[in-house]
Amino acid sequence: MTQRQRLLPYGRHSISVQDLAAVIDVLQSSWLTTGPKVTEFENAFAAAVGAKHAVAVSSGTAALHAAVHALDVGPEDEVIVSPLSFAASANCVLYQGGTPVFADVNPHTLLLDPACAQKKITSRTKAIITVDYAGHPSDYEELRLIANQAKIALIADSCHALGATYQGHPIGSLADLSTFSFHPVKHITTGEGGMISTDNAELANRMRIFRNHGIATDHREREQKGTFYYEMVELGFNYRLSDVQCALGLSQLRRLAEFVEKRKMLAALYDQAFAQIDFVRPLSVKKNVSHSYHLFVIRIDTEQLGKSRDEVYRILRAKNIGVNVHYLPIHLHPYYQKKLSTRSVLCPNAEKAYTEILSLPMFPEMTTQDVGDVVEAIAELKN
Ligand SMILES: *Cc1c(COP(=O)(O)O)cnc(C)c1O
Repeated sequence: MTQRQRLLPYGRHSISVQDLAAVIDVLQSSWLTTGPKVTEFENAFAAAVGAKHAVAVSSGTAALHAAVHALDVGPEDEVIVSPLSFAASANCVLYQGGTPVFADVNPHTLLLDPACAQKKITSRTKAIITVDYAGHPSDYEELRLIANQAKIALIADSCHALGATYQGHPIGSLADLSTFSFHPVKHITTGEGGMISTDNAELANRMRIFRNHGIATDHREREQKGTFYYEMVELGFNYRLSDVQCALGLSQLRRLAEFVEKRKMLAALYDQAFAQIDFVRPLSVKKNVSHSYHLFVIRIDTEQLGKSRDEVYRILRAKNIGVNVHYLPIHLHPYYQKKLSTRSVLCPNAEKAYTEILSLPMFPEMTTQDVGDVVEAIAELKN
C-alpha cells in the first residue's frame, strides 16, 4: 500500500538561486516599491503574453477588481461569470456594486459554455468573465463573436493559464483584459501578486491610476519631474506590487517555459497511467490549444468505484497525497445564496462536476516517483 511519510502538496512554488539573487539585489537598491523593476516586469510580462500593455498589481483578486473597474462596471450592470472558479472571479463584480450572472460550463472541459453565456445576455450585460479552468484556454473564438455581437467586453480570468496558447496565440492576448495571479501555487510567483494584460492603452492607464489610490502620477514620476504636486482623480486603492516582488517575478518569468514544459510532462504521465484505470476520467483537452496545467483535474466515476468523491479525498489525504477540490461552484457559497438567492440547479453541469472532481498534485519540482505514488494510491481505491 502506498503511504507517503510527508504530505505531497497539490501545488508548490520553485525558487532558484537566481530568484534569490534577484530579490537580494533589489533589497540593496534605492527602490523597494514604485521603482524601475515594476516597469521592467510589466514590459517583460506583456512581451511574454503577446499584449501591448501589462499592469502589475498586488494580487490576482486586485487584477480582477482593476479590470471590472476600468470597464466602469457599476450598480446597473450585469457581468456573466463562470461558476466553476475561485470566488474572486465573481467577487470583483460585487466590489463594483454590479450583479454577477452565472452561466453553466461545458461538461467535458468545465469551461464557460459560450451558448449558455449567450443565453444570459440582457440589455444590462456589460461583460463576460471567462475562466481558463485548470490551464485549458477558454473557447475564445466563440466568446469573442458573442461579445462583439452584444457590444460587451470580454475579460479572461487567466490565473490558471499563464503559458498556455489558443490556436497558437498566447493566453493574455485574446480577451480585452486578461488577469493573472502570482500566488505560490500558480505558474510563477511573487509571494502575492497579479497582472492585467491588454492591448488598450486607455484601460491600462486607468488601471495604473486605480492601483495607486486613484492618483494620476506615482512617486517616481514626481521625483523625476521635480514636483511634490499630485492629484487624485478617482477613488482607487493601494494595489501596488513592490519592486522586491517584481524582481522575483522577472526572474520567475525567465523560468516560465521550463515550468510549463515540466507540468506538461507530468500531465502526460498521469494521462498514460489513467488510460488503464476505468473509474478515472481526465478532463478533455481540445486539439487547438496548448494546456499549461495549473491543475491536473480528474473526474471520479463514483458509481463505478462505489465511493463518493469525499471518501476518495479522505482516503488519499490519509496516505499523504495532497489532493484538493477546485471548486465549490461560486453560486453555492452561503454568501452568494443569501445575496443573489442563487440555488443549486442553476448550473447543473458545474454542480454535477463538483461532486466528481479532484485536483491531483502538480508542480514543477514534482518527480516521476511522486506521480507514481499518486497513481498507485488511486489504483488502490478499487480494493
Ligand atoms: C488564484 C486565483 C485568483 C485570485 O488570485 P490571488 O492572487 O490569490 O488573489 C482568481 N481567480 C482564479 C481562477 C484563481 O485561480
